[in-house]
Amino acid sequence: YQPKMDIVTNKIWGVEALIRWNHPKHGLVPPLQFISVAEETDLIIDIGRWVLKEACLQNRKWQEENLKSFSVAVNVSPRQFQNPGFYDDVNQAIEQSGMNPDYLELEITESMLMSDVEEAVNKLKRLIGVGLSMAIDDFGTGYSNLKYLVNFPISTLKIDQTFIKDVETDDSIAALTHSIIKMAKSIHLKIVAEGVETKNQVSFLRDHGCNIVQGEYYSKPLPAEEFVELLKKERT
Ligand code: C2E
Ligand code: MG
Ligand code: MG
Repeated sequence: YQPKMDIVTNKIWGVEALIRWNHPKHGLVPPLQFISVAEETDLIIDIGRWVLKEACLQNRKWQEENLKSFSVAVNVSPRQFQNPGFYDDVNQAIEQSGMNPDYLELEITESMLMSDVEEAVNKLKRLIGVGLSMAIDDFGTGYSNLKYLVNFPISTLKIDQTFIKDVETDDSIAALTHSIIKMAKSIHLKIVAEGVETKNQVSFLRDHGCNIVQGEYYSKPLPAEEFVELLKKERT
């Protein structure tokens, strides 16, 4: 679990669930090494269902322990999103955990929306009807049709970390990042910066109107029990 920080209040604003496979021989295996393989088979459906269930349960627990409400974001893979049972899986995770769906966010990528636009809009509408919200992950790296940002019921854009990485050293990237922030805000989307590693990046983002950031400057992804420690520290 990696916190998303509000850099104005310096408080945890949300959290993203990032899967790890704790392999008996190889230790913690990062998702880039197995999600794409799982994506080739229906295994991704089971994995995705498990992630949703765990993240929802965890969110409910934290809210009970901390008396603070913040949202949990769950990554959704293309095959999972296309699966006809996806809507039911989401509902089941919400119901079985007893969490408030207002605090669930699903992260999808631009390309997942582009193959059948009408169907994607309907799917998103049905999902947000449950109360959850949708975010576009890795924004700026995929195939974007900017007009769809208005038509799709999306509430958040996550600027990809490849922009943040060069924001201090490349004027064009800095200008582009500023434009993305302005564009998102002008159409009333929330904007989150990913992969923030330095103080200067934080300053840049604050100066240019992006107040929610995620990255190792604040915290790496943590096991649930260590994330709780962060929450507790914040309270004191
Ligand atoms: P993502 O959703 O864009 O997640 C952000 C990635 O950036 C994470 O990599 C995170 O650990 C990493 N990161 C965070 N802060 C920093 C930083 O300051 N610097 C740098 N360089 N990297 C940072 P991770 O955990 O290895 O996940 C990689 C990708 O795997 C994710 O990208 C997401 O697309 C996918 N993924 C992760 N968990 C799941 C899951 O449960 N289901 C599915 N379908 N995909 C997942
Ligand atoms: Mg993500
Ligand atoms: Mg991303």
